[in-house]
Amino acid sequence: MSLDLTQFVRNIPDFPIPGVQFKDITPLLGNAQAFDAAIEHFAQRYANQQLQAIVGIESRGFIFGAPLALRLGIGFVPIRKPGKLPAQTIGVDYSLEYGTNRLEIHNDALQAGDRVVVVDDLLATGGTVVAACDLLNQLGAEMVEAAFLIELTFLGGREKLGNRPFYAQIQY
Ligand code: 5GP
Repeated sequence: MSLDLTQFVRNIPDFPIPGVQFKDITPLLGNAQAFDAAIEHFAQRYANQQLQAIVGIESRGFIFGAPLALRLGIGFVPIRKPGKLPAQTIGVDYSLEYGTNRLEIHNDALQAGDRVVVVDDLLATGGTVVAACDLLNQLGAEMVEAAFLIELTFLGGREKLGNRPFYAQIQY
């Protein structure tokens, strides 16, 4: 029987601002069996997809993306917040409820035609992952799927993703 990972996700009311119920994944990360189960679930899904890399979105996407890449025997590519990557980057700005944000990737991180899976911990409104998809588009990489541990279905991320393929292990 597979482990029920929802037991390892806790709800934190009013974080980071009043009214938000934050899904805290640190109990899952702190439990070796649960963390392994989450990574193994992704590994089985993507083992035969002929991927060239796993792309992780800063910062919780790194926590799931890096061990997944290792398990699949492929490289890991970070998408980061502005000003963090040392070599030449391309970037994309995207809007949040209040203000804007920016994500960057090294412009030599992937080759045109590379097949990749983008990993983040959680899909909410979808703004972050759609920005990541834009960056991959600019590099000519093929996003096979966007993979999340958690989808918050009531925030409309799947509509924002449109016809881009995505997958989540847990839905709320
Ligand atoms: P979106 O751009 O889809 O609205 O927000 C998703 C991004 O915000 C992800 O990078 C995710 O890490 C972070 N995020 C938003 N809400 C939560 C939450 O409740 N729990 C966690 N762990 N991350 C969240």
